[in-house]
Amino acid sequence: MRIDQALSDAVARLARHATDETATPHLDAQLLLAHVLGRSRTWLYTWGDREVEPAEAKRFNALVERREQGEPVAWLLGYREFFGLPLAVSPHTLIPRPDTETLVEQALTHMPASDVRALDLGTGSGAIALALASERPDWQVTGIDIVAEAVTLAQRNAETLGITNVRFEQGDFFSALAPSMRFELIVSNPPYIDASDEHLGQGDVRFEPRSALVAGQDGMADLLHLIETARDFLTVGGWLMLEHGHQQGEAVRAALTSAGYTTVGTCRDLGGRERVTLGQWPSA
Ligand code: GLN
Repeated sequence: MRIDQALSDAVARLARHATDETATPHLDAQLLLAHVLGRSRTWLYTWGDREVEPAEAKRFNALVERREQGEPVAWLLGYREFFGLPLAVSPHTLIPRPDTETLVEQALTHMPASDVRALDLGTGSGAIALALASERPDWQVTGIDIVAEAVTLAQRNAETLGITNVRFEQGDFFSALAPSMRFELIVSNPPYIDASDEHLGQGDVRFEPRSALVAGQDGMADLLHLIETARDFLTVGGWLMLEHGHQQGEAVRAALTSAGYTTVGTCRDLGGRERVTLGQWPSA
């Protein structure tokens, strides 16, 4: 079978199994076939009339079948690109999202290029911590996750990418840290979805760990806890930057203000929705 035929067959199969409007059958088929052939997606366009070897066709078919059952493409490929870094993924952590790149961009824009100690709470695959560390070689970045497998995965990602100004530790948010530790920057993409949200029944989210997604108090519990406790670990003038649900911006700003943070602002994600809120621990 030719490459272009293999692709259009797979697209038809994946489109039939699409569960919601977030499905991307063309992209998924291309990513899976490019992976099997060890080529880029653009290569597929150029060489659509080439034959797919039977062994490759079999492997491709097996991946398409798993994708038909809903398995995330990132799991099938074994990695997901985040801020230009190919990160290994696993069922123990959230799959890195493009929306979270907004948080990384804000941190890079607001903070100086050196003398920054940065802390990423609930680091998962290490995505945010690794992006910050690789973009800012002079920063010292710490990533913390409560899940041991996440810490192992994040460490593996750091090693594979040769990023050395980052370290990962297991702990429940701040609990692994000595009380005397201070950071110029604390970032987090904590769980923030309400348990009854229908979003949890759609796409990749169905397969990801609930503990990385769901929080109590309408999804606000972890955000509120972080706003409270980060105060004890921020330097004077230090920044707290939080990812949150697109309808939680107002509640997060209010919580920051009442906890005594200043210079509070919210940034929008790629879809134009409120996604990341910034608070500065007062400088005087
Ligand atoms: N933004 C993710 C989603 O909507 C959720 C991430 C999170 O809960 N921290 O799927």
